[in-house]
Amino acid sequence: MSEPTPPLHYLSGELTLESSPLSGLAERYGTPLYVYSRGAIEQAWRDYDSALDGHPHLVCYAVKANSNLALLNLLARLGSGFDIVSIGELERVLRAGGDPARVVFAGVGKREEEISRALEVGIRSFNVESAAELERIDRVARRVGRRAPVALRVNPDVDPGTHPYISTGLKESKFGIPMAEAGALCRRAAAMENVELVGIGCHIGSQLTRLEPFRDALSRVLALADDLAGEGIPLRQIDAGGGLGIRYRDEEPPTPAEYAAALLPLLAGRRETLIVEPGRSIVGNAGVLLTRVEYLKQNGERRFAIVDAAMNDLLRPALYDAWQPVWPVRPRQGTPIRYDLVGPVCESGDFLARERELALEPGDLLAIGAAGAYGFVMASNYNSRPRPAEVMVAGGGDWLIRERETLDELMQGERLLPDA
Ligand SMILES: *Cc1c(COP(=O)(O)O)cnc(C)c1O
Repeated sequence: MSEPTPPLHYLSGELTLESSPLSGLAERYGTPLYVYSRGAIEQAWRDYDSALDGHPHLVCYAVKANSNLALLNLLARLGSGFDIVSIGELERVLRAGGDPARVVFAGVGKREEEISRALEVGIRSFNVESAAELERIDRVARRVGRRAPVALRVNPDVDPGTHPYISTGLKESKFGIPMAEAGALCRRAAAMENVELVGIGCHIGSQLTRLEPFRDALSRVLALADDLAGEGIPLRQIDAGGGLGIRYRDEEPPTPAEYAAALLPLLAGRRETLIVEPGRSIVGNAGVLLTRVEYLKQNGERRFAIVDAAMNDLLRPALYDAWQPVWPVRPRQGTPIRYDLVGPVCESGDFLARERELALEPGDLLAIGAAGAYGFVMASNYNSRPRPAEVMVAGGGDWLIRERETLDELMQGERLLPDA
């Protein structure tokens, strides 16, 4: 078992987040339970912001990684921008006190209502992913009487060296506009009446642990910006996307400071504002999922710890075969045994971890680490399981930031057919 990643640590034999013992939180709020550290989230955001200090920049937190209102509100208070992919995320940002003028809107399938709402509140830019979308934005902007700020998301065809499901910058991916077509589309955008071309950018994937792909992608984007400037089409923003990895197992991802140090030299002497869109690296290591062991079971040679969290609460292991760290909240003496950690959901893919050496008894609490990003946001009600509660800890205090879903809420909105 590896050492917990800060801000998780053992204190007097008990796993603690910041200075809050996790067993107390499990008692008070029940399990399964997501717990996040305010200090770790704010520190990660500030690390990006200060590392980019040498150049005009905007850190736009990628809301899809974790969209809880309390978390968005904390980032809004720091002056964060936001990268959104739906109108639902936009409304969350607004309710959390985020500044619409610092919102960039990504995604390949923006609907008309989403575009008009974003125009109405005055977002910073639409990150456009196709010619058809550009036409639609131009049309909607004309209808509502606004000029739409757009940035083209190009597909730089760079292999980020990550999981195929989270690689987005290869030429066969659905994301972005192929490099070969990007110049022509930028010229078209620049000539459109209801659209203002403000920038270009890319986002090549997630959980990247090397800097070269970021640098290669940004170089290609900047080369296109130079071509456009040469044709009299200056841009005011360059978007490098998100994607910096975190530690799940033994990865050693670059820090935001190293990331910034790799990118900033490429921007030396340039005037465009650099936008970055980190999601996972802001919240991933700041959160855990707490779960309790219900049963221990052996089938043939395989031993299972059946816990009260499942794939509906944390999908990454089932979806990507992702490895998440597991730590006992109160480690016990005894010979560790190899367990698969599985949930109660009726799917063989319902596992949270496999082949982990643990000394366990029923009733024990486990913390699944690195669960702050792409954890709760992917939770579903599969098997009619209410979604977990979420708690934020800070400086020894703890706050419930989402109530546990109730069975009534689960069935809310469903209707029976009339008799006969
Ligand atoms: C998902 C996404 C991000 C955030 O990616 P992380 O790996 O969580 O940093 C940023 N930008 C876009 C366009 C995205 O789709």
